[in-house]
Amino acid sequence: MVEPLVSKQWYVNVKPLAEAALKAVREGRIKLVPRTATKTYYHWMENIRPWCISRQLWWGHRIPAWHCDRDGSVHVSREDPTACPQCGGPLRQDPDTLDTWFSSGLWPFSTLGWPDDTPELRTYYPTSVLITAPDIIFFWVARMAMFGIHVMKEVPFRDVYLHAIVRDAEGQKMSKSQGNVADPLEVMGKFGTDAFRFTLAALAAQGRDIRISEERIQGYRNFANKIWNASRLVLSNLDGYDPALAKKTAPALADVWIESRLAAAIAEVRDGLRRYKFNEAASAVYQFLWHEFCDWYLEIAKLSLYRAESPGQRARTQVTLVTVLETTLRLLHPFMPFITEEIWQRLPHKGESIMIAPFPKAARKQRNADAERQMSVVMDLVTAVRNIRGEMRITPAQTLGATVRPSPDTRDLYAANSALIETLARVRLTIDPGAARPKNSALAVIGGSELYVDLTGVDLAAERQRIEKEIHRLDEAVAFGRKKLERPEFVERAPEEVVARERERLAENEGLHAKLVASLAWIDDGAR
Ligand SMILES: [Zn+2]
Repeated sequence: MVEPLVSKQWYVNVKPLAEAALKAVREGRIKLVPRTATKTYYHWMENIRPWCISRQLWWGHRIPAWHCDRDGSVHVSREDPTACPQCGGPLRQDPDTLDTWFSSGLWPFSTLGWPDDTPELRTYYPTSVLITAPDIIFFWVARMAMFGIHVMKEVPFRDVYLHAIVRDAEGQKMSKSQGNVADPLEVMGKFGTDAFRFTLAALAAQGRDIRISEERIQGYRNFANKIWNASRLVLSNLDGYDPALAKKTAPALADVWIESRLAAAIAEVRDGLRRYKFNEAASAVYQFLWHEFCDWYLEIAKLSLYRAESPGQRARTQVTLVTVLETTLRLLHPFMPFITEEIWQRLPHKGESIMIAPFPKAARKQRNADAERQMSVVMDLVTAVRNIRGEMRITPAQTLGATVRPSPDTRDLYAANSALIETLARVRLTIDPGAARPKNSALAVIGGSELYVDLTGVDLAAERQRIEKEIHRLDEAVAFGRKKLERPEFVERAPEEVVARERERLAENEGLHAKLVASLAWIDDGAR
């Protein structure tokens, strides 16, 4: 049988402490990130009630109160008293301990030597940022704020970053009984620590929980592999590395472009980190490294690396490769500490370890808007050819004939970069401002320019049939998806996750449908 037992407990009247801590947040001396957490904080602090701080546990800080059994008096004291101040009789310390959150609330200064005036306390109090879970805003963050302001006369920290809670792929909280717990050690063993760490950063959108799945981590392991492969390519092409010779050679458009894009990536990463938007920072370095450095610059670099007749250009490319990769590794280091150190040590570098190398900075003057614009014109043309090739299922090995009818402002640009375009797009390029669209060609419109890719020799009738069939299939899939999403009993009752997936699938199908309809138009025209 269980019966309630009424007992005496110790309370703290926390209202005055809470008011001071509330004011600190209102006045911006403490900032909660994300801002939405501020509301939770206000709610707790505005509705605060006396705090029961005594616990009947055998371990913990003991309540600083002493009982005299002779006259029944109770004495609360900072110093341990030796005898009853009232009758001189023996004293017995209260057997209760403090609530664990009371002890934890002292953490910002008690760990630094308080109540002694230590160098650590003077240096590290207040601290810049506290990182913790959103479910202990009141239990811990608020208590530290109250105690810090009361005892130290100063807030304990400037920023409080409330991190995401990691859930499983379906959004369920991980629990041992459900068996959906991912053991970090196992995950790291399987995919690598860098991939795991990068995944957590990439998914850390403010105010949202992290839904982790093996596919996501696998994706970032691929990213790590990509970096390895890119670095191997750079490292295996550094013979005769000569920065002095490189200095004497004017940079090519691609060199200027990649350095400008690097400056942009640095600015974005720094901005993301400054605002605690770790996912944005991770995405910026990922996009730059994979889709600009690897996808484009490395491909372009190969041209001058493998072309021995221009040693100046080769040296220039080598230096750009090293500079950009070395800087990017430093930028990526906080997200992927191991792989970056490993590669950095093998590259020409300054210093002992990437861990203590300076974090990259970007000056506005490192951006070159003109080079970025020019390069994007070149890239758009190459991409257009690649898209047509992909849609028509023409092997990348086959060199195609292509004609561009340039807009007045791109004519010289195409001419200056025609060798680059020809290699990257695998075309024989004709630049002709008076060109008309030939028969059996695919058309792409790029800004004010037109591109015609010669499709002679491609079985257009078969291609048309294939695409029509695919469009028909997508028609049905799109209609099915729309109907499903119009049914209120589905949208309202199905798990959020399932509805979201259905929406994604519909958008994907619609996008693909539009693309195929567009390519059908090329073919119809081409076959006229
Ligand atoms: Zn006494």
